This record gives sequence, C-alpha cells and structure tokens, in this order.
Amino acid sequence: MAGLHLKNLAKTYPGGVAAVRDFSLEIKDQEFLILVGPSGCGKTTVLRMIAGLEEISAGELYIDDRLVNEVAAKDRDIAMVFQNYALYPHLSVYDNMAFGLKLRKLPKVEIRKNVEEAARILGLEALLQRKPKELSGGQRQRVALGRAIVRKPKVFLMDEPLSNLDAQLRTQMRIEIAKLHKNLQTTFVYVTHDQTEAMTMGTRIVVMKDGLIQQIDSPQAIYDHPVNMFVAGFLGSPGMNFLEVLMIEEKGCIYAKLADALLPVPAAGGQRLKEQGYLDRKVVLGIRAEHLWGSGDFGDRHSEWALEGRLEFSELRGAETYHYVRIAGREVVVRVSPELRAATGQEVRVGFNMAKAHFFDQENGVNIC
Ligand code: ATP
Repeated sequence: MAGLHLKNLAKTYPGGVAAVRDFSLEIKDQEFLILVGPSGCGKTTVLRMIAGLEEISAGELYIDDRLVNEVAAKDRDIAMVFQNYALYPHLSVYDNMAFGLKLRKLPKVEIRKNVEEAARILGLEALLQRKPKELSGGQRQRVALGRAIVRKPKVFLMDEPLSNLDAQLRTQMRIEIAKLHKNLQTTFVYVTHDQTEAMTMGTRIVVMKDGLIQQIDSPQAIYDHPVNMFVAGFLGSPGMNFLEVLMIEEKGCIYAKLADALLPVPAAGGQRLKEQGYLDRKVVLGIRAEHLWGSGDFGDRHSEWALEGRLEFSELRGAETYHYVRIAGREVVVRVSPELRAATGQEVRVGFNMAKAHFFDQENGVNIC
C-alpha cells in the first residue's frame, strides 16, 4: 500500500521537447487515478517517471514520503502493465507470471502460491500451460496483469492496457480491472486517451494537455464543472456543444442572445457574468447533448427557450438517438428519445435547459460562470 506525491515534476527530452511541465499531484493510498488527455500530452512520460523508467528532469517524486528520484526502477516496488502486454512468447503462461519472482529468487513454493492465486483472481487457472500465441487478446492482457499481481507491488501503473482489444472485450476488461482494484486494495495509476475508460473506472481523473494539468477531480465533478473548453470538449461523449452568444441585460434579467432568440441565464450565473464585465460581450455558451431536447420530447414545456434549426443527420443508438441540428449557422448535437423521429432536412425546434448551460471566455476558454 502506498501513496505517491509528485512535486513540480518536469521532463524535457533531449532535443528540448518539454513533455511534462510543473506537474504536481498527490495520489492517495488505494486510489484509482486516471491520467487522460490527447495523444502526445505527456501521460506515458508521467507514468514512466513514476516507474523509474525515465529520468526526472526537475521536481521531486515521493513514494510513501520517501524521495525516490534516484531510486532504481526495480527498487521502487511498482509494477507496470503495458499496452502491448510484453509477454515472453517462448514461455508458458505460468512461467511468464513466475518470471519476475524467479529473478528475485523467491522459494519455489511461494512462487507457485502467488502465481496460482493471481491465476484464480484473473480466471487463468485452465490456461497456465499455454503459450501466449495460443491465447486470445483478452487472455494475453490478463496474463500481463497477472505478471504484475504476483509481485504484490505497492503501486500498479497501467499504460493504455486495453487499447489493443476489440470494443466488446474492452468493456469486459474495463469492469474486470475496476473489480481487481477493489479486490487488491492497492494504488492504481491508469493512463488512457479513451474518455469512457476515464469516466467509468477511476476515483479521480487528471486531465492533461501539452504536458500541463488542466483539471483534477472526480469524474462527475469534471463532467459537471469543467474548468475550460478543452476539458468540456474532451470528456463526455458526444463532446459539449459550443455556440457563440452575446450577453445582454433586459429588464433586470441576463440573457444569452443567439440569432434572434433570447435564452435566459439563471439569476446567480447571470450575476457572476455581469460582475466579471461580460455584459454586451460575446462569450461561448457550452451545453451538453442531454441538456438540449427536440420538440415533442418534453411536450411544449419551456418552448420559449427553444430555437428553430434544421435536422442534418440522425444517429440511432438503440436506447437514444442523436440529432445533429444546424442552429444559427452552427451544428449542435441533441440527445432525444428514440421514439422522437424526424426526417433529415426537416425544421425542428431545439429546447435549451439553461440551468445546465456553461459559459466560457472566448479568448482563453476559461469557464466563467
Ligand atoms: P500517447 O497517448 O500518444 O501515448 P502520451 O500522452 O502518452 O501520448 P508521451 O508519450 O508522454 O505522450 O509524449 C509526450 C511528448 O514527449 C510527445 O511530444 C512525444 O513526442 C515526446 N516524447 C516522448 N518520448 C520521447 C523521447 N524518448 N524523446 C523525445 N521526445 C519524446
């Protein structure tokens, strides 16, 4: 069991690439922390610095209050699971899992006990004599996890462990890894660029961009209160809709003006925008697909907060339908119930749940409301 403390960590690769900058984070014992962000944002570099596979350019890394910057990877008591599994092809499942323990010269009985226990946890008991090429992708990934588990490390690091699996297996393994975390009660740090994994697996998410932390919080808090447009657009599927609006005040109420429509801003939010000097200025209104609705979905309730648009495309997804609607020159995606059918090209009305709207500064994308 271990907590990690990353203090102003930075990594500059030879050639001057600043892959990670001023990265500060405390990871609690037994936490399941997710590092998420687009390709190249520095996630793997952070993980490799924790593992001791990459030298730290600046800052301090503590494991359980012990400074480990100069401690070799093998002495950090950390296990890493890689995207490509990195199994030895000529060894059986059993020997792949036992490999690290043999190197450490553990007694044979103990090795057998640890491997059998890990095999039981991962449902690999019947496959211990097989070679990696005789396994499915999901089974290989399980062996890679098993090899980490047998060592009983203080911390598990996982670098996109599911990205080589097909969609169905990914869903299954996502649940298995979350259960594994519960069973093992150990600290997990998990890298992904998949926002579904980020939203569903971890206790906290760190959203990264260009080597910098954008936001750290629980999945729900990040979804409900993204600090900027990047985070709002990156997490959630589909991403948040963004529309340019003009903030105005009329008869004591604050409105977001979009084309000819006035969308009322809830009083407290409107006041905050006014105090920050956003009246009579353009800002970006952000609203998620589930906070827009098609006419018919909610009867005519709130119909005064609805805008005319043209349906460009419908995506049927079984339990829900996404309507892509052009409003005031911009396409927005609206989540509607599957019963609500409309033909492409048809004029539709789209309602706005303004209590759920976000407002962002046009220049720097910061959430201002
Ligand atoms: P991905 O999701 O594509 O794996 P990532 O978020 O994990 O990306 P990193 O692999 O940490 O990103 O890379 C961060 C930046 O550092 C990128 O610009 C990458 O090109 C650069 N980089 C990574 N490794 C090296 C290296 N050994 N030498 C030079 N630059 C590197």
